[in-house]
This record gives sequence, structure tokens and C-alpha cells, in this order.
Amino acid sequence: MAKRDYYEVLGVERGASEAELKKAYRRLAMKYHPDRNPDDKEAEEKFKEANEAYEVLTDANKRAAYDQYGHAGVDPNMGAGAGGFGGGNFSDIFGDVFGDIFGGGGGRGRSSVQRGSDLRYTLELDLEEAVRGTSVTIRVPTLVGCNTCDGSGAKKGTSPVTCTTCGGHGQVRMQQGFFSVQQTCPRCHGTGQMISDPCRDCHGQGRVEEHKTLSVKVPAGVDTGDRIRLGGEGEAGVNGGPSGDLYVVVSVREHKIFQRDGKNLYCEVPISFADAALGGELEVPTLDGRVKLKIPDGTQTGKLFRLRGKGVVPVRGGSAGDLLCRVVVETPVNLTKRQRELLDELRDTLQAEGSNQSPRAKSWFEGVKNFFEDMKF
Ligand SMILES: [Zn+2]
Ligand SMILES: [Zn+2]
Repeated sequence: MAKRDYYEVLGVERGASEAELKKAYRRLAMKYHPDRNPDDKEAEEKFKEANEAYEVLTDANKRAAYDQYGHAGVDPNMGAGAGGFGGGNFSDIFGDVFGDIFGGGGGRGRSSVQRGSDLRYTLELDLEEAVRGTSVTIRVPTLVGCNTCDGSGAKKGTSPVTCTTCGGHGQVRMQQGFFSVQQTCPRCHGTGQMISDPCRDCHGQGRVEEHKTLSVKVPAGVDTGDRIRLGGEGEAGVNGGPSGDLYVVVSVREHKIFQRDGKNLYCEVPISFADAALGGELEVPTLDGRVKLKIPDGTQTGKLFRLRGKGVVPVRGGSAGDLLCRVVVETPVNLTKRQRELLDELRDTLQAEGSNQSPRAKSWFEGVKNFFEDMKF
């Protein structure tokens, strides 16, 4: 029993308005209300599911977090850990829900049915993989239901027996001074049952540690921090509880040529000062191959050229971003004698022309001149 999508629970579109949510919720609440469905566990569960979905989706902050990160986004236990695996223990939250459903009633005390923990897996991708999407196979250490005992924890051929301490009630009366107080049975922890002959493979836990191999489809356009939810692929639940989810968190490796900022890509292109002065055509790299970029004459170092649509198509849809190429004028090194002569000659003619050909130097020198005049040196 994987946790259902909240919008699916309420039967509304993802962009549903507050009024639509309310209408959908009221319809479900009327239909599944416990008063109308006495002793109907399925209805009770649906009622709780609808309550939870409505509570999250009508809270703007929680809804935004849920839209972005799924169930993990609205769960306080799924924090932003750093890499690797982290398990959140859901028993606090789900204990209440399942306690009501499975326990109570016949006075058998609270069941220890628990949802399995969610798992987090950090998936490193190259920029190209993240932009184009990919399929990867991951190996995940997790807890799965024990096959030997079918998850019961009791040795094959035996089954859990009624707890002798509490007689199956899950609660015991303790004398404290003058008072008699009711407490959760310390022997069966409230389950009302105990395992006299535990399964050897899982030591009575009903779950064993195992590496699972999973294939993950990574949609095109993902970026660092995006999460892919694999419902029900987290740790197995306890005593027949539902499995948790697995969250695959994307981390994009640094690229040799491109830096990514959302849907735009940046790259630096060195050009000779001859090309910068005379203008020319450069070949620049894009993720789809080389393209030609025209540089006008008189291009200054640091100028950004925008190649529209050569960025990234975002995973949540929309138009592709741009590729921004920053040209950097490179000073030539290891000059030959002939090149030195030519540059010497060029320097003389530039000096003769003066500020007309070096607009930046002109304003800079004027600024410096004014500065010293103000200082009255
Ligand atoms: Zn077992
Ligand atoms: Zn007991």
C-alpha cells in the first residue's frame, strides 16, 4: 500500500483552486465519514486519506513543498540530509493512523503495524544525462519482508501466540502506590501477541537486510536537488505495514565547459585580439554540437553572446533556456621576432590615433586625471 498522490486522493487536477479542493473534500468526507460507515475499515481509511490530503493542499506552504518534493516535502522526518542514505521513522505519524485502524475496537490494544521508513539515494549524473534524461540501475541497501516467515517473524510452521503477560489485551494494570494504572504491555509492546519461536533468518523481526537493484527513469531536464519518488521501494513495513518510498535525489556533476544556472548554460570562449578587433566567426560548443557565432568588430573582452534555445528544457516543462557565451580576449604569448615588429608598428599607429581607438582607456585616463586634480597633488 504505497501512499497515494494527494491530488489523486481528492480526484482533482494539480492546479485545483481552493474552492475545488473544498468541494472534492466535502464530497469524500460525506461519503466515507465513519458515522455513515460504522465498522467499515476501508471507508475509515479513505476518510483519513482525504483528511490528510485536504489538510496539506489547503496550506499554501505545505502544498508548495508537496508539489515540488512529493510526500517527502511535507514530512518533517525527511530533512535535507547530505548524501547517502537516511531513513525517516514514520511510526510517530502513522502510528496514530494505523493504531486507530488496526488496534482499538475489540480492546486488543494497539497493533505494532508500522509503515517502513523512506529511503534517500543520491544519484550523480553528468550534465548531458541530466539534460537529456537517462535510465540508470541503482543498488540500494534496504529492509525487505522476510521470505522464510512471510514477514510474521515466527519460525516456519509456527505462528505468533497470544501474549501470556497481558492475555492478548496489549495493556496491563500496574499498581503504583494507591493507584492502579493501565500501561502498554512490556512483553508484547501492545501487540497482544508474542513470538515463542522466532524465525532464524530475520531473528523475529519479519524483515531482512538486502540489496535491491532498481531501474530509475530520469526525466530530461532534471537539476541538482530534484527528487524522483519510487513509491513503495523504501524499507518494508513492520508486521505487514506498507513499505516506505525511495527518494532518488539528483546531483549533477560539474561540467568541463558549461556551467548551469536553472535553464540557462554559460560558457567561456577565448578569442584572439585580432578576432576581437576585426570581428569574425567563431565555433562554439553547445550540447547538440558545434554552432557558428558571429563576433562583430570591436568586441570587448567579457561580452556575452546569447544563443537562444541552446540551453536546457526544464523538467517541469516550458521553453528551452539559452546558452550564454562570454568571450575572453586572449593576449598572445611566445611571439616571434616578426610578430613583435608588427605589434610594435601597430602600437605606434594606435598611439598616434589616441583615444579615438581606445574608448575605455580614454575615459579611464580622464577619470584618473580628475582624481589627481581633486586631490590637488
Ligand atoms: Zn523471518
Ligand atoms: Zn502482552
